[in-house]
Amino acid sequence: MYAINHAATALILKKRYPVSSMFLLLISVQLVELLWVVFSYLGIEYISVINGKLHLNYLPYSHSIFTGVTLSLIAFSIINWGYKNRALAIAFSIGIMSHIILDIIFHEKDMALSPFSNTPNFGLGISNYPYIDFTLETMYGIFCWWYFKGNKYLLITIILFNILDLPMMLGKDNSGKPFSVNHFILPSIILIQIVITWYFVWRYSRKKSPLEL
Ligand SMILES: [Zn+2]
Repeated sequence: MYAINHAATALILKKRYPVSSMFLLLISVQLVELLWVVFSYLGIEYISVINGKLHLNYLPYSHSIFTGVTLSLIAFSIINWGYKNRALAIAFSIGIMSHIILDIIFHEKDMALSPFSNTPNFGLGISNYPYIDFTLETMYGIFCWWYFKGNKYLLITIILFNILDLPMMLGKDNSGKPFSVNHFILPSIILIQIVITWYFVWRYSRKKSPLEL
């Protein structure tokens, strides 16, 4: 799933657990992706390009069910017992797991059970069908906005970023090539997307008019 719709998940959590900081919720839903960026820079996790098409391929440390559950438990323990904030502890843990669950729905079969075994791998493979991927992701983002009862700026943000993702979803033959030449390109693009979508979702989810600073 693309950055904007992971970020949109934080809207559901904010609505459900309003005392939680939106800033922290946005981190929770992308924590797994940030790990992937770091591991990709370090060469611990890597992509592969087969017949010109990009595959995320090897990401068992950041994107496994085991990692999601472990990170959720650690985050819950720290926030609940360390900071005595039960609502945020629950919201943050769900945020972490939401990333794994959503990626299992959209990824190819590249989501591992744990980093310690090669099989089984999960992934419904919706990303292989770009237009279905685009439609479902956009509908999901809009659902998050609707559930949150966001303003029109937030809606425009969600729709616009989904449209901007379309060229990457469609990725024609050989479009994956540049990513195999330099393994810093893709994680850098993803990192920039995470930060930009964080900013706009954070800014336009605030209750006052976005035109007021
Ligand atoms: Zn991911």
